[in-house]
Amino acid sequence: MRLTKQRKLILERLRNSKSHPTATEIFDKVRAELPNISLGTVYRNLDILSKQGFVKKIETCGDQKRFDAVTRDHLHVICSRCGKVRDVEGEFDLDVDKLAGIDSDFTITGIRFEILGICPACLANRS
Ligand SMILES: [Zn+2]
Ligand SMILES: [Zn+2]
Repeated sequence: MRLTKQRKLILERLRNSKSHPTATEIFDKVRAELPNISLGTVYRNLDILSKQGFVKKIETCGDQKRFDAVTRDHLHVICSRCGKVRDVEGEFDLDVDKLAGIDSDFTITGIRFEILGICPACLANRS
């Protein structure tokens, strides 16, 4: 029961966030309500939630894994300075069928596509 409560809270905090937080950031949010929770527990629950399809792990170049409660296919724009990740709104056609002509012996199952940019905060801090 305790695990379920923790997992629910982690999922809730993630769903309330648009920032695609890292496990450490989620831990900080959840700890405010569950002071005894450990970072390891947060990791474990995020792992279970992602295996169950409730959250997505986002792989971005280099830094820590980030998590997303939006599990439909969508695009991210990533700040190349601070690593901040935001969803991109609007329609964008990435049709897997159009990749049929690609020269690979792999069966193509999808495309991972990242848009890079500089977020407003980093742009404002430019010296
Ligand atoms: Zn930035
Ligand atoms: Zn997202």
